[in-house]
Amino acid sequence: MSQAQSTTQGVSKETIFQRADNAELYAGALIPGYSCGATFETQNPYNGQCIGQVEDGNANTVNKAVEAARETFEAGTWADLAPSERKEILLRWHALLVAHTEELAALDCIDGGKPISECLETDLPETLETIAWYAEASDKLFGRIAPTGKDALALIEKEAAGVVGAVLPWNFPALMYAWKVAPALAVGNSVVVKPAEQTSLSAYKMTQLAHQAGVPEGALCLVTGMGESTGQPLGLHADVDVVSFTGSTDVGRLFLQYSAQSNLKNIVLECGGKSPQVIFDDAYDLDTIVDDVLSAAFWNMGENCSCGSRLLVHSSRKTELLTLLKARLPEWVMGDPKDPATKIGPMIEAVHFNKVSGYLATAKAEGAELVYGGSTPSMGAGLFVEPTIFDGVNADMSLFKEEVFGPILAVTAFETEEEALRLANQSDYGLAASIYTADIRRANRAAKAIRAGNVSINCFSEGSIATPFGGYKQSGFGGRDNGLEAFDQYLETKTLWYAN
Ligand code: NAP
Ligand code: MG
Repeated sequence: MSQAQSTTQGVSKETIFQRADNAELYAGALIPGYSCGATFETQNPYNGQCIGQVEDGNANTVNKAVEAARETFEAGTWADLAPSERKEILLRWHALLVAHTEELAALDCIDGGKPISECLETDLPETLETIAWYAEASDKLFGRIAPTGKDALALIEKEAAGVVGAVLPWNFPALMYAWKVAPALAVGNSVVVKPAEQTSLSAYKMTQLAHQAGVPEGALCLVTGMGESTGQPLGLHADVDVVSFTGSTDVGRLFLQYSAQSNLKNIVLECGGKSPQVIFDDAYDLDTIVDDVLSAAFWNMGENCSCGSRLLVHSSRKTELLTLLKARLPEWVMGDPKDPATKIGPMIEAVHFNKVSGYLATAKAEGAELVYGGSTPSMGAGLFVEPTIFDGVNADMSLFKEEVFGPILAVTAFETEEEALRLANQSDYGLAASIYTADIRRANRAAKAIRAGNVSINCFSEGSIATPFGGYKQSGFGGRDNGLEAFDQYLETKTLWYAN
């Protein structure tokens, strides 16, 4: 019987919800030889109730984790395995994660306020696919031979970077963990993961399962806690080779400073966005397009980095499109994330709710016209923002320029293709964009003109695990997640020159 088969299955979502009701859930550091310290409470954003404890790590915790990670890297118990051996272990991890799918989905639901149906149908399937994809890719990477002429042989090799810090956001907890950790581990690095303080529970379980599958404990350490007390020491640590960060542009900027102030570690940033959805006058079948537009704007409560929060629509199609959007929006049911019918859960926490709901007043004050929603219903702990549409948003308004990270869609009309593309690019961000047109030549012109890392044509898509994901301008820095490109974050390049 294989190790994966001999392992108990994960518990049901009902069991996790029960444990949450009894405040029994837990996450804390996973570092060899380390015993955990003080904790803080983690809440269910829907009702504000304490669901468990999370270890409040600090610089000492980070030091221990980095020490263990370095020791393991130097010992070679992970880094020096044959790639096919690492693959086998990562596939065992995948099998364990599959067995714990429902448990992990329930943890992200209860911890992050994410609708359970989203967790089960999107987040966890993509998480599992990511782990399997990088496990399978790990023994299929080749170096190159340089064109030297007959006097020499030059090999261009890729080597594991060493100790990698992975700093995660709260909006897709299990999935962002997989995006960072799977490619970094697959090529032999030791990884220290720091999940967001709001959503550490699934990271704890995923790390435990990795150890159970055979990933050495020092090759994958977990540190939980606040950004300032754990993220900062990781960013400043002189023995960390790479930090791969996903989160806000403001905190991303800090990581560049941490690197400059310490050891010039490589920094990769996946940051915010203000992505345009461009609907040209010849867009076919708005009745179909409307679902894509809604998903882009409101999926995951708009707490999505590639959220299509700016709708740029040709003036001749605006009335028709707005009518369809308003007719379809009641399907986006707000409620308890534990309810399978819920499509819109609460904002993650009060500070974030205040920020998002603040835009309702700001947009009105700046002259935008509320055409749908705009309420903050008092259900649960009262952190709901109704899916909202503002029309008449111009390029000077906050709603056009700033990442809201909530369910508020800004509508701007345009007259010409040139104006549409100028508006699309009028942003500090450049993560994603969608273009809707029946004209293939216009689609191609627009796709090339838009300065963004991910452009989808006649749909809203973030691509797949096979395609790189990341942004231009202030949406990203230093590399890409996903695809074979993600490996570049975690590898150094070495030239070997042999004289003949
Ligand atoms: P955040 O506030 O920037 O936090 C991200 C991570 O950084 C968290 O683990 C956080 O720790 C940590 N952190 C906070 N302050 C820190 C500091 N001073 N020093 C070091 N680390 C620190 O972002 P978030 O609110 O979790 O996530 C939302 C943002 O992520 C949005 O802007 C969104 O667009 C972006 N995002 C981007 C992508 C992408 O692929 N481009 C994907 C998802 C999300 P705490 O635990 O204390 O929060
Ligand atoms: Mg929580």
